[in-house]
Amino acid sequence: MLVVMHRQATAADIERVVAVIRAQGLTPHVLPGATRTAIGMTGNTAAIDPALFEGLPGVVEAIRVTRPFKLASREMKPDDTVISLPQGTIGPKTFTVIAGPCSVENETMLFRTAAFLQEQGIRFLRAGAYKPRTSPYAFQGLGREGLRILERARERFGLAIVTELLDTEEADAVAAVADIIQIGARNMQNFALLRRVGRCSQPVLLKRGLCATLEEWLMAAEYVLSEGNYQVILCERGVRTFSDHSRNTLDLSVIPPAKAWSHLPVLVDPSHGTGRRAYVPPMALAALAAGADGLLIEIHPEPDKALSDGPQSLDFAAFEQLLHQLRRLAPIFHRTL
Ligand code: PEP
Ligand code: MN
Repeated sequence: MLVVMHRQATAADIERVVAVIRAQGLTPHVLPGATRTAIGMTGNTAAIDPALFEGLPGVVEAIRVTRPFKLASREMKPDDTVISLPQGTIGPKTFTVIAGPCSVENETMLFRTAAFLQEQGIRFLRAGAYKPRTSPYAFQGLGREGLRILERARERFGLAIVTELLDTEEADAVAAVADIIQIGARNMQNFALLRRVGRCSQPVLLKRGLCATLEEWLMAAEYVLSEGNYQVILCERGVRTFSDHSRNTLDLSVIPPAKAWSHLPVLVDPSHGTGRRAYVPPMALAALAAGADGLLIEIHPEPDKALSDGPQSLDFAAFEQLLHQLRRLAPIFHRTL
């Protein structure tokens, strides 16, 4: 149920609706919008009677939300969610590029990458200190030491740090250095982890699961939102199909429905989506044209020496060339990069 308030509704009118929701044993979510405030509610197991709200001062209407995801739905919040950080915003007017190596390997390579990004005007650095690897014998990331290197990069270069949280145990440590907390594809349905980041103050970048439908992905986002963290960024990173010409099948066709069903920003990760560096630039450009709000891209000073995901990482020259093309294309789609 969504209670839509009049544009002129007072704070007391909103408080009254909130009190009625609480009296039902439910959790209210006040969602201010550009044109009106709406108040959502979660926690009900059966339908709620709209008559509870319809006569109250300041209320325009009480509407049933038909989607299984509530707070993530456009029905609940028609305006696009914009994520604002000191380094820039992620939303409908911008095209935000987040780049960096798959893993933090050592301070030298991370600082080289950070300095290069700064030079290119890119203000978001990605790199994993904790890596979800298929093999337990593969490089697992530097862990706490990796977090310390990220922290130093953040201080020195002023970049926003995007890094993955693998399990609830490390939540405090990761939250202490991350400006955006990444939840990886393999953890998209780790509900305890989703609830945990739902209680963090940072935005959460939620990757699509390896075989998740759009509805399952948005339900995963709902776990984060329902805990009170409304800053969720979706990230398409390819799904498993029968195709074997690329690592995954980058599903750019999910962007228009994701945007129609949800107000959350959508990024595209063409690196994991294709697994091959040659395919990354065309898919990155296509993501912009398809309506994505930005990219998550793997780059490395020496991709062939990378400890993880080298084959899909761009070197600096290729990344610079891609940026040049994105900057030319972005204005056509009314976005600034
Ligand atoms: C990553 O971003 O390096 C990563 C492990 O991504 P995903 O969870 O999409 O595989
Ligand atoms: Mn990777």
